[in-house]
Amino acid sequence: MIYHPLGKTGVQVSTIGFGASALGDVFGAITLKTAIATVRYAMDSGINFFDVSPYYGVTLAEERLGNALQGRRHEVLLATKCGRYGYDAFDFSAATISRGLEDSLHRLRTDYVDLLQVHDVEFGSIAQIMEETLPAMRALQQQGKVRMIGITGYWPGLLARMLRQVHVDTVLNYCHSNLLMDDMDTELTPVATELGVGLINASPLHMGLLGGGPVAKWHPAPVVIKDAAAKIVGLCEEQGVRAPIVALSQCLSHTGVASTLVGFRSVAEIDEALLALEGVHEPELMRNIQKIVEPIRNVSWASGLAENQPATHSNSL
Ligand code: NAD
Repeated sequence: MIYHPLGKTGVQVSTIGFGASALGDVFGAITLKTAIATVRYAMDSGINFFDVSPYYGVTLAEERLGNALQGRRHEVLLATKCGRYGYDAFDFSAATISRGLEDSLHRLRTDYVDLLQVHDVEFGSIAQIMEETLPAMRALQQQGKVRMIGITGYWPGLLARMLRQVHVDTVLNYCHSNLLMDDMDTELTPVATELGVGLINASPLHMGLLGGGPVAKWHPAPVVIKDAAAKIVGLCEEQGVRAPIVALSQCLSHTGVASTLVGFRSVAEIDEALLALEGVHEPELMRNIQKIVEPIRNVSWASGLAENQPATHSNSL
């Protein structure tokens, strides 16, 4: 495993991070036994960074992760989130942040988390998040319940603007830096690097599309993106290469990112991520993938309050 500094926090995170949303059955049901085996295998493979949220499976992912980490919690850096508690359930008030953390700690069977993040800032009032939510999280840090704090969300430009206005330790962006997208690097990566904020890249398979399995019913991508991802998967198959390995390999070679969070549902998926660490050297395949991606690169979908979305985002295709 390779480890990178998480911004200026002094903490070293594994380049492959464990995204635990899949433990909440959001990509299809798995058993508790599989969840526990997958988490323990990840730890034994050197993965030390685990990211979860009360939102994933509406508490199920936290429950299962807490169960799997029993007796070994201190071996990992544990990140959870606050402010989002269901598909449409957001509350960024100080009282809820504090109560929500207590509930998360209970489910995770621990008395502190390494990282507490505001979950999906674009769904809240940015003024409230900066003036009420983040100060409440700093207070929890003072109490020793949280080691570091961060923000997460879909829009890289919005996250970058927030970083310029408020001090946080980490920033997590999803679905904006992978085979299909690269605008995290134009809008957010330079700001995070300049400010020394730990950059976490999530959804390297575009929430499963580049894995080649069944697409989740809730997946918000426009059909042109789903079609392009399916073409990439087909092209890789023709060449005898696994698309998820190609996609993960590109993300894991990103030098500005501290950790790439992959949603794991099985030991076999962890093995593929470990293979991706070795890199993929298929220049012609990569050129052909680029040809598929070019017409739809950086096509996004609506997410969050209207006031927090870019004036023009390309979801019209
Ligand atoms: P992802 O792109 O990592 O895709 C996960 C899906 O891909 C799952 O269905 C998984 O079974 C499948 N998969 C994984 N490895 C595979 C392989 N080798 N072959 C085939 N399929 C494979 O998407 P994600 O889970 O949304 O993102 C990863 C993590 O990032 C999440 O679990 C979460 O922790 C974090 N995240 C955070 C936010 C946020 O804070 N706002 C948003 C999105 C994701």
